Amino acid sequence: MATDLPNSGSHPADVARAAALDVAAVLDKAEQGERIDATEALALYTRAPFHALGRVADTLRRRRFGETAQIATYLIDRNINYTNVCVTACRFCAFYRPPKHAEAWTHSLDEILRRCREAVELGATQIMLQGGHNPELGIEWYEQVFAAIKREFPQLALHSLGGSEVVHIARTSGLTFEEVIRRLHAAGLDSFAGAGAEILVERPRRLIAPLKETGSTWLEVMETAHRLGVESTATFMMGTGETNAERIEHLRLIRDVQDRTGGFRAFIPWTYQPENNHLRGRTLASAIEYLRLLAVARIFLDNIDHLQVSQLTLGKEVGQLGLHFGADDLGSVMLEENVVSSAGARHRWNLAEMIHLIRAAGRIPAQRDTLYRHLRVHWTPDDDPPFDPRLRSHLSSTALRPENVPSGSAA
Ligand code: SF4
Repeated sequence: MATDLPNSGSHPADVARAAALDVAAVLDKAEQGERIDATEALALYTRAPFHALGRVADTLRRRRFGETAQIATYLIDRNINYTNVCVTACRFCAFYRPPKHAEAWTHSLDEILRRCREAVELGATQIMLQGGHNPELGIEWYEQVFAAIKREFPQLALHSLGGSEVVHIARTSGLTFEEVIRRLHAAGLDSFAGAGAEILVERPRRLIAPLKETGSTWLEVMETAHRLGVESTATFMMGTGETNAERIEHLRLIRDVQDRTGGFRAFIPWTYQPENNHLRGRTLASAIEYLRLLAVARIFLDNIDHLQVSQLTLGKEVGQLGLHFGADDLGSVMLEENVVSSAGARHRWNLAEMIHLIRAAGRIPAQRDTLYRHLRVHWTPDDDPPFDPRLRSHLSSTALRPENVPSGSAA
């Protein structure tokens, strides 16, 4: 097991030195393509002029993508939240219910397959299975589900679970992280989602998720997965009371692992949603803080290709702006989402809007797959698909409304 502070060749930001740095010189350095350290990242995050910061991030994005820099991508996928039963009781979570709770549910395999079938019919290329830490579900349950999905829908990428679920399954089934990852991968899991990262720095993490694995254990799971050939994304939930230096430290921890593995495909920051949970809006991250973080992520995470802006928690306008602050991806037309919407995310969109938002931001929209390959580039409006009202985000909050749980589900 890992210690609380992972071994690293880098160092946390020095707050006093960050306050004294010449920000213009750091911006110049970043624009030249030189790597900046955590202290310089903190200086940019807290003090760089807003527009200049965005411009440098956009310059680096354009340089990274070269001939395809005009393209911004989107995905069609479905988050299938298979159980809301969870024993980890994170304070920011509005989705989970304890075992035996009257509103607790776990979807049957048939129900999961039905949702996959529906997603395939709508053109989804990816399924993200995410759920609570249900003590009733051991490795065999996941193997059965993944194998069944792959058997019936081999075209679907299973970009699912995350570091937390691996830790939970290892505990439930008495396996090592490596054994869990190998078995999930053999059963059909293609890559891990970046969920569960929340904030990886121990002080704020303990305050919002005291029963969750430590940040270093989450990183250890990801590093193990990457070593075994299973790639992942990485996320960051901003706005639960962390300091600016802790925000930068989160980025640094991810960059250090990426230096060793190269296994993070994308970084996806999003903002904490304050409804129906135990933190109750005590703190939030504003749109400006978010856009600054996004830009610094593009600059500081010089070893991660893709950066996604979170329309789900910030809305369409910030989604568009994010494409000018370093992001190259607008995320997914989410055919289903229950977890973040349970905590108050209200933003909705359909595929036509998504394409329009990208085009109106001055980019060429392209549908991508899980590996960020372009499946369909909409060079002109003539390339857009016919309008289909079913292709829209369904943020259903089934955790809050048990009557939404379909009859095929078993508690
Ligand atoms: S965030 Fe995940 S692990 Fe935490 S309580 Fe919610 S479902 Fe459980």
